Amino acid sequence: MSFPRKRESSFFALDPCFRRGDIVDFCFLQQILIRDWLSDFSYDYQMKDIIANRTKLIDASGIRKVFALAASLKDPVNFSIGQPDFDVPEPLKEEAIKAIKAGQNKYSQTAGNAILKKRITEEIREELGWSEPSVLVASGVSGGLLLAFLALINPNDEVIIPDPYFVIYKHVINMLGGRCIFVDSYPNFELPVEKIADAITNKTKMIILNSPCNPTGVVYSEEQIKRLAEIAAEKDILVMTDEIYERFCYDGECPSIAHYFEKTLLLRGFSKSYAMTGWRLGYVAAGVSLKNVIEEMTKIQQYTFVCAPTPFQKAAVAAMDYETSDFVDTYRKKRNLLYDGLKDKFELVKPGGAFYAFVKAPGGSGSKFVEKAIKNNVLIIPGNVFSEKDTHFRISYATSDTKIQEGTEILRSLA
Ligand code: PMP
Repeated sequence: MSFPRKRESSFFALDPCFRRGDIVDFCFLQQILIRDWLSDFSYDYQMKDIIANRTKLIDASGIRKVFALAASLKDPVNFSIGQPDFDVPEPLKEEAIKAIKAGQNKYSQTAGNAILKKRITEEIREELGWSEPSVLVASGVSGGLLLAFLALINPNDEVIIPDPYFVIYKHVINMLGGRCIFVDSYPNFELPVEKIADAITNKTKMIILNSPCNPTGVVYSEEQIKRLAEIAAEKDILVMTDEIYERFCYDGECPSIAHYFEKTLLLRGFSKSYAMTGWRLGYVAAGVSLKNVIEEMTKIQQYTFVCAPTPFQKAAVAAMDYETSDFVDTYRKKRNLLYDGLKDKFELVKPGGAFYAFVKAPGGSGSKFVEKAIKNNVLIIPGNVFSEKDTHFRISYATSDTKIQEGTEILRSLA
């Protein structure tokens, strides 16, 4: 039996080797039918095309272009990096080294080291009042997001996402056959509550929130969040809240929807708060109503990531007691330096958290302005990487004060 070469309507037409009435391997035909049924593409199915269709749903061209342009730069102002410029605090490094030396280098339990899980559970119970939180320690918030989407998204499920958005959501949802329903939050990037309410249909699987937000740095207000909680409760729709930047909060509290709506999947992480992006640690927590989601995610973790890195989980217990207010104070100053340096020349909302600013591009095209900035030694990311629009650019001010000053001067000269 040879492989089918063309995708056509009847499997008898797939290959000349099949004739109506032939006795053929039923499982094989079933696989072909399922493949065709899952596939939304019309492309030639050839043996040499070994790459899965779903990869075509990821478009990394925007970022690639920035990196290609950046490759030739010497000592640029790098406003493109999404991680803190400080290193992991020494006591936390010591904890990780201690764990490695003590031989804690094997798999942990799938859902996480028991001590770390207990510590997270206690914190969630105290903060949110959830009686029995379920917790899964994941390989970063990215790992948690993938597991959550795998556990929740069926083909054609709709996921409501305020635009601009963190890149992972769109691409993973698309890969799973879900449909992203983007809700415009321009020009002030506040939570577009009423537009979200209007976007809800009987196919809506969940609403994703990310506050403080990457790429805008905007923190959603308590009123907006409470109103959204009411809407989600009324329509009985799950909310996923990505709070990886919860500690980078500069002007008062950063409210969490988990306080107001129990059917919330809460994702938080260690990457940004302690500058340990390479340690790959995050967690997902839920109340009683979403206990089964955490169970399903744990099952998937068992067959994918297996567990988060064990010695770093030990260090994460210490991290949870580590005071981060000095980092936050430092980053608040960086935020002020950047905002004050740009506000009279550019249109931008003062970021309340994270370490990003989303700035309107002079001339209207984010991509064009980015090219110009890179030619002048400043690396920024075009807004269309995070949005359906190409009108803005993202700055990450997670760099030295000197570089922030240098970068703002150059950007001002281009405005
Ligand atoms: N969510 C948001 C909004 C982010 O910006 C990032 C990192 N850039 C992540 C999740 C993933 O973080 P990690 O996997 O390192 O925990």
